[in-house]
Amino acid sequence: MSPIAANLQGIHRAIDVAIAGRTHGNANPVKLVAVSKTRSVAEIRAAFEAGQRAFGENYVQEGVEKILEIGQSTWQSNQLETIEWHLIGPLQSNKAKLAAQHFDWVQSVDRSKIADALQLARPIDKPPINMLIQVNISQEAQKGGVMPTDALALGRYVTGLSQLRLRGLMAIVENTNNTESLKSQFAQMATLFDVFKREFQGVDTLSLGMSQDFEVAIAEGSSMIRVGSAIFGARV
Ligand SMILES: *Cc1c(COP(=O)(O)O)cnc(C)c1O
Repeated sequence: MSPIAANLQGIHRAIDVAIAGRTHGNANPVKLVAVSKTRSVAEIRAAFEAGQRAFGENYVQEGVEKILEIGQSTWQSNQLETIEWHLIGPLQSNKAKLAAQHFDWVQSVDRSKIADALQLARPIDKPPINMLIQVNISQEAQKGGVMPTDALALGRYVTGLSQLRLRGLMAIVENTNNTESLKSQFAQMATLFDVFKREFQGVDTLSLGMSQDFEVAIAEGSSMIRVGSAIFGARV
């Protein structure tokens, strides 16, 4: 077994343990997005061959290069179309067109201007792009995401756009070892997610948790975790 396959197996075990210990969101399944930013196509292939299908990229250009190369590859070709590409990094309007043409999900929508750009650029022969509203739950100045109090208004806005499908919320919590503070931020997101589920049809995804904190995130109700270094090793 490749080291990447072994890491994936370990993470799936940890996910099951975390689900069993949940305090919120007991019914939510958990989807693992393998964050492949800075990783080679060969590393992505190792994860793919271990059964991984959802991949997350931070930079549009880097992601699209890999998407195109893998799309033309000869990997188990009947499985290739089951790969799902998530854009998880900040998105500028001038990159929205390229993103809308190639990604299946955009997790970092935090203003109406970006939603408009995606709407305009999503090819009509493709299904609507799945999108999450990124929330700046720690309210750190340098961080992307809409302020929590503005999330509902943005949700209402994007549901009027036919080429976008609002699936839920994403957040990058504060980088801290303080478990209580982490839990509190995850729990605030879970509460906002409940509001979104009541307010909007089709909302089913709460994207919270990375290598360092995905167990805590799942315990608080996360349904999608974005894990890079725990799968592929530390980024250099
Ligand atoms: C890099 C990144 C991740 C993964 O981080 P790891 O610590 O390597 O698991 C998750 N989400 C976002 C938005 C990222 O930029």
